[in-house]
Amino acid sequence: MVPTFMIMPSMACQASCKYCFGPYQGPMMSKDIMTQSAEFIKGVANQTQPSAIRIIFHGGEPLLLPLDRWRFLLTSLCESLTDYPLSFSVQSNLWRFDEEYAQLFAKFHVHVASSLDGPEIICDAQRGDGYFQKTMAGIRLAQRYGLLSGVIATITDQSKDQVQEVVNFFDKEELSVLLHEAQTGKRPGAESYTINPKDFGEALLRVLPWYVDDAQHIFIRNYHQFASGLLRGNPRVCSLRDCLGMFLAIAPDGNISSCQRFAGLREYVLGNVRSKPSLEQLFDSEPALRQKDREERVRKECAECGFVHICHGGCYHNAVFAGDGIIDPQCVSIRMIYSYLQEKMLDELTAQCEPKYRQLGMR
Ligand code: SF4
Ligand code: SF4
Repeated sequence: MVPTFMIMPSMACQASCKYCFGPYQGPMMSKDIMTQSAEFIKGVANQTQPSAIRIIFHGGEPLLLPLDRWRFLLTSLCESLTDYPLSFSVQSNLWRFDEEYAQLFAKFHVHVASSLDGPEIICDAQRGDGYFQKTMAGIRLAQRYGLLSGVIATITDQSKDQVQEVVNFFDKEELSVLLHEAQTGKRPGAESYTINPKDFGEALLRVLPWYVDDAQHIFIRNYHQFASGLLRGNPRVCSLRDCLGMFLAIAPDGNISSCQRFAGLREYVLGNVRSKPSLEQLFDSEPALRQKDREERVRKECAECGFVHICHGGCYHNAVFAGDGIIDPQCVSIRMIYSYLQEKMLDELTAQCEPKYRQLGMR
């Protein structure tokens, strides 16, 4: 499997989203680690010979890294990885995204995704006063430069009954959105935002008929991920697959983990870019073997579930930090959505076949 690389230029974040599960503080990546990261990526690419290299910049908040260091980072990557087509994207709250960043990102074709929880009143109630205005300004600028790819909207226990308002907003703004469940965050009081998996499943199912029949300009990625799982047996999103090997995430200190969500956690470090580990070394490390073992245990524990091949126990991080270490508590919402879509698809198929059956005198 060819991994997608994640680079976290900064673990810190200046926003104060009430449900945040990240560390929201920490170091910036040095130029030395940037250079070493580029060399490490080149080593993995030479091993895997990908048709293209995909790099996502994540955080913390990646734009806390000053512009001159961004220029250095992008230039280092481009100079080291000349043998491969590169695709860059960044996940950012966009508060610091200005004309200079926009021009730099346009030059290096860095696509921009952001995080916004819907209309101002809903968004700021859970992400903090002023979040909406600052992020929307960044979104508008990214749109002007043709760089915006979509947003992630977090649905919390507080906003679950307003999910229709949330999607109406994105429909009006013509934005592609991924609805994300608020997990158990690390800030004091975060628990009151954590959404129960059943409530999250119900929220997604509540807006689905509207999405199918009435939505005009919105693309809600969740539904397509599930539909792709059912129709192709191969969902693309990591949380419905065995994710070990899909990503290699590089933290500001050069530590490598299997997912950006594990950055900063010692017990999930697979290696460090300074020692240029091979894929074999990374995947033979103790944390990787633990994750592999979890994948095996899912197959046993979920053996009776008809969706195991298109769910794989859900997100490993959720399973570890909100579940029993094996099964993602979102199992509940995953089953709800797969079951609903499966039934709808069968109904649709039956309705289409019925006239033919009758014509042939069959029942
Ligand atoms: S731990 Fe969760 S978020 Fe991270 S790659 Fe795996 S499924 Fe995706
Ligand atoms: S839906 Fe639940 S039971 Fe089924 S495979 Fe996923 S986690 Fe396991």
